[in-house]
Amino acid sequence: MAENRYKWLIELFDAQQALSLHDAVLMDKADWFRALCAEKALIHSGNLTSILCSQCDVPHTLKVNPLTYKAYCAEAGQVQYKPEDTMQYAASPDWIFKSLRTALSISGADKLQECVPGALWILGQTRIGKKSITAFFARNVAERQKDIVDYLQANIGKAAGILFLASDDLGTAKALPGGHRPVSLEVYLDDQFHFPQGALDRIWRGDAVDVPHVQHAPDFSTVTIGDTTHYFSGEDHRKVIAHLHKAWTSGKPVVIRSEMMVAIGLERTRQLPHLFKGHKTWRDLIAYGKPRGTCRLIIEEQHS
Ligand SMILES: [Zn+2]
Repeated sequence: MAENRYKWLIELFDAQQALSLHDAVLMDKADWFRALCAEKALIHSGNLTSILCSQCDVPHTLKVNPLTYKAYCAEAGQVQYKPEDTMQYAASPDWIFKSLRTALSISGADKLQECVPGALWILGQTRIGKKSITAFFARNVAERQKDIVDYLQANIGKAAGILFLASDDLGTAKALPGGHRPVSLEVYLDDQFHFPQGALDRIWRGDAVDVPHVQHAPDFSTVTIGDTTHYFSGEDHRKVIAHLHKAWTSGKPVVIRSEMMVAIGLERTRQLPHLFKGHKTWRDLIAYGKPRGTCRLIIEEQHS
């Protein structure tokens, strides 16, 4: 089960599935559906011509006029549908490619390249540590595995890249030709279509592929990392945590303390130990002073 709307979007893209608002309501995902439509991540892909009769208890389908949204049922007579009942939406490949390239900081000059039609793309060059790495994106691996593997086999000899899968696994392919490293987007993509800080590094080093699970109350009165929950009852404490969390999710976790204090309106309080005086666990959550004058949230160290 997708845990955020972007993971769901990737699932729909992988399955090449189109759906209506009504379908989304039945899946209990109407909020995600509307949000993705508003972002143009889901785009109108056509209208249903056959629809479940809304008037009869016995399920049967009706032909619906895609222009007038009218249908005719032998039992119930004319049935009028609303446009949104018949309009179908599908994941926008352009939106997904653009968002992935942004999340991977791929240069605009680096052009997207389709390697296997509808199944494998080169997104471009991304930086991991000090290396420039080719980022691939594959979908529908279950059915297109042979084409994907054939392409990689035919283009062997180039540097190993990282291959993002829209599916949650590689199917029966244990390893990819050329030493490319597969990784499921399902595991990594966060609720802002980012890769959490350090995630690409860990994938590249071949470390455990689980990402620390960070949850917080909307007002940052609680922050849970892995199994550990921290509580912040003071408003100023929450401002600091919110600021550091935002920095972490933006991929630049280290902030200059004096700049942060100005940004959150606490410029008269330069010293965090003073601000957090009496709080028992703040030093478990905030790394302070490395490098000098900076701080950041401690995320990776706490996952079990
Ligand atoms: Zn009917």
